[in-house]
This record gives sequence, C-alpha cells and structure tokens, in this order.
Amino acid sequence: MGDKIKYCGNCKQFVTATTGIRWGIFILLLLIFAPAALIYLIVKAGTGGRCPICNSKNWSVPEK
Ligand SMILES: [Zn+2]
Repeated sequence: MGDKIKYCGNCKQFVTATTGIRWGIFILLLLIFAPAALIYLIVKAGTGGRCPICNSKNWSVPEK
C-alpha cells in the first residue's frame, strides 16, 4: 500500500524506499498526545525516500 519500489545504485537491487512521515500516524498521535506527534515529526523529517539498506538516495536503473 503506497510502497515505492526503487532500484538502489549502491545496493544493486530493488528496495522499498522509506516512507518518512506517515501523516496518518502523525494525526493519530496528535489526537492522543500532541507532544509525541511533534517528536514524531522531528524524528521523521527528512527520512523519506531513502534506501532502507544503505540510507542513500542513489536511485538508479538496473544495469543490463
Ligand atoms: Zn541502498
């Protein structure tokens, strides 16, 4: 569901890109405990769209 499959140039394989902030979770936290929602935002900011293995954004295309 909403997974972004990309090819990592470092790991030479297809991986599921990290999603970073999940707004559904953020809103849920906001309703339950607002400070936790803010911490979640700070922790997750800038972590989206990366390779889960090497944590890079070296997206490439598979070599033949
Ligand atoms: Zn990688």
